[in-house]
Amino acid sequence: MRWVSHKTVTAGIVYAVTGDLTATCAATVGSIVPDLLEFPFGSLLRHRGVTHYWPLYALPFVGFNLASVYYQNFELFYVSMFFMGALLHWFEDGLSKSGVSLWPFRGRFAANWYKTFTVSEFVTTAVLVAASVTYCWYAGYFKQAYVRGETERLVVIAQIMFHKVLR
Ligand SMILES: [Zn+2]
Repeated sequence: MRWVSHKTVTAGIVYAVTGDLTATCAATVGSIVPDLLEFPFGSLLRHRGVTHYWPLYALPFVGFNLASVYYQNFELFYVSMFFMGALLHWFEDGLSKSGVSLWPFRGRFAANWYKTFTVSEFVTTAVLVAASVTYCWYAGYFKQAYVRGETERLVVIAQIMFHKVLR
């Protein structure tokens, strides 16, 4: 799947499930990480190899998520959503014909919905985004007041996190 497809599908799913714009942004950034990590290694790494092992992202997601509940810390929750984005990348690649590894288990997850760079990838992306948008619409996540509230919260959280990093 191309990056634009990963980003739009991940953003759609996460906003539909959480209704949280900050979580959606964190997951959207995470959604390109498995491919991004392949770059520095060039041809050394097989495409959709070690950077596309699901436990690599599922374990940090669960860890940060549980820690966010335990410590009542919203920042840890957004870190966990970054890893959820990377995990969704794995799932989205798994919807393709060639699929992804199920490591450490045997076999592959390959739903065979699409082949990358063909019209089937566009159709898969469009169907998933349309489903998410429809759900968000009925849930009220596109209502002006709701979006304004989420945007303000995103700005405040970004400021808090930048201050912590810069200090
Ligand atoms: Zn990938």
